[in-house]
Amino acid sequence: MNQMSDNKKIIIVEDNEINMDLIQAMLEPFHFNIIEAYDGFEAVEKINSNSDAFLVLLDIGLPGIDGMEVFERLKQSEKTANIPVIAVTAHAMKGNKEHLLSLGFNDFIEKPVDRKVLFEKIENFLHI
Ligand code: MN
Repeated sequence: MNQMSDNKKIIIVEDNEINMDLIQAMLEPFHFNIIEAYDGFEAVEKINSNSDAFLVLLDIGLPGIDGMEVFERLKQSEKTANIPVIAVTAHAMKGNKEHLLSLGFNDFIEKPVDRKVLFEKIENFLHI
């Protein structure tokens, strides 16, 4: 996905610094323009001010307001309602993926994040 990803804006929301670094290290070869947020409030703010991003990777377990609430707020604002959002969560309960998709999340990535899965899922949104 090298050429297509060059300089494209992606927003990564993750409160755990180790996970944040890990995801960014995985994405390093693709030269995205990465915007990072470490809690729910920062996420809403950053997504609002970077609404030209092609994708949001949204951790669900966050301090402040959680990922579900962040998602709801994004959907309520015309400016951000159409930005694709991939939920990133360790809660791999049966039916959880279906639940997230039914709420309007575009996709779902299970933690711990697998490099190959991450690339595949992101790539789907680069083609749009
Ligand atoms: Mn978290």
